[in-house]
Amino acid sequence: MKFGGTSMAGIERIRNVAARVKGEVEAGNQVAVVVSAMAGETDRLVQFCREASPLYDPSEYDVVVASGEQVTSGLLAIVLQSMGVPARSWLGWQLPIRTSDAHASARIADIDTAALDASLSAGEVAVIPGFQGLTVADGNGGGNRITTLGRGGSDTSAVAMAAAMKADRCDIYTDVDGVYTTDPRIVPRARKLSKITYEEMVELASVGAKVLQTRSVGLAMKEKVRVRVLSSFDDARDDGGHRGTLIVGEEEIEEGTMERQLITGIAADKNEAKVTLTAVPDRPGAVADVFTPLADASINVDMIVQNVAHDTGATDVTFTVPAAELARATDVLERAQGSIGFVKLITDTSVTKVSVVGVGMRSHAGIAAQMFKSLADRGINILAITTSEIKVSVLIHSDYTELAVRVLHTAYGLDADEAA
Ligand code: ADP
Ligand code: ASP
Ligand code: MG
Repeated sequence: MKFGGTSMAGIERIRNVAARVKGEVEAGNQVAVVVSAMAGETDRLVQFCREASPLYDPSEYDVVVASGEQVTSGLLAIVLQSMGVPARSWLGWQLPIRTSDAHASARIADIDTAALDASLSAGEVAVIPGFQGLTVADGNGGGNRITTLGRGGSDTSAVAMAAAMKADRCDIYTDVDGVYTTDPRIVPRARKLSKITYEEMVELASVGAKVLQTRSVGLAMKEKVRVRVLSSFDDARDDGGHRGTLIVGEEEIEEGTMERQLITGIAADKNEAKVTLTAVPDRPGAVADVFTPLADASINVDMIVQNVAHDTGATDVTFTVPAAELARATDVLERAQGSIGFVKLITDTSVTKVSVVGVGMRSHAGIAAQMFKSLADRGINILAITTSEIKVSVLIHSDYTELAVRVLHTAYGLDADEAA
């Protein structure tokens, strides 16, 4: 069981979480619980680091931001004990959960479950703070530093723990009752999906549906973990795993669903920034000169648009980078201006990437055309486009985000019935 920040925000809510854990124990299950920090706490801790020094040491940042989960794991263990459920906390370094040393975005390498297995067999509930791990010792007294897995990383902790312990299921409890066709807080007519494929969920998460961290879904797919997303706030008692949304293999969906939608979901991501380099010379290697320095600086480029040059022998190159990386990207490009040979560098942060996702795209033509037409009918201009096998993304001005998502939701027939 994994409980997110809203579910853990305050002692009353932690009591509610403990009651659900107790329910699973009474139903005869062995339970490991992964918890997030209280809602807002991680933001607060990140802000402290920024105030302390804009150029903070990433390994000390991890020491600070990992602390939110330490608090909630201890509190949940205390509350469980007070309800007569034997429980103890296991911090990332105590198991340990070994990770890479990429501070603030570390990857899990290995989880030692020996202590946990013993604890569960002895009838205890294991409470594990999400989001945190420990680097490998380097043999010279180095390493052994606290790490964190990137924002939203408790989902990945939970899936990794479920895989390592060979759990029957990984239940992700959050503040909505499942995965919807789009963010239900933006589109009230969004529909809850009873099942979604791993592939679609990976794509939806990667284009902005923050209900699950993208990496957690990729890991679940690789390790074949059965993941369910459900609410920690509705009162339905356990029903053997039917509430919420199940993330499953494609074969499990094809069976029995006559009217599978072509499009499964829509997401929007406002955390991108657009960069245009004007008059880049049209010669072999010009594009490599633009993107190599960005890659060397570990800046992820997402959408790319380059036109064919005609008479002038030069063309504009437009692409997007994470908004948080824009300042670094601009710096890198300005320093490379001589070797690239562009004329102007233009940036824009008022952009949103809107994406439609669905495995139905593999077998149906016209999904992208329908998207462009629906947006055009509302006068929404498209600044860039990318596609993958099961996804089409467009970049638009961010003022139109909500409108675009709603229009597309209706156009693809995803709206819930009026009565719902
Ligand atoms: P937690 O703290 O439990 O990890 P998050 O805030 O990370 O919760 O994720 C849950 C939120 O994800 C919901 O409140 C909802 O606004 C948002 N969300 C975005 N897209 C979707 C979607 N397609 N389906 C459900 N929720 C979504
Ligand atoms: N507390 C961390 C965050 O806010 C991890 C998580 O909640 O998943 O990003
Ligand atoms: Mg989350």
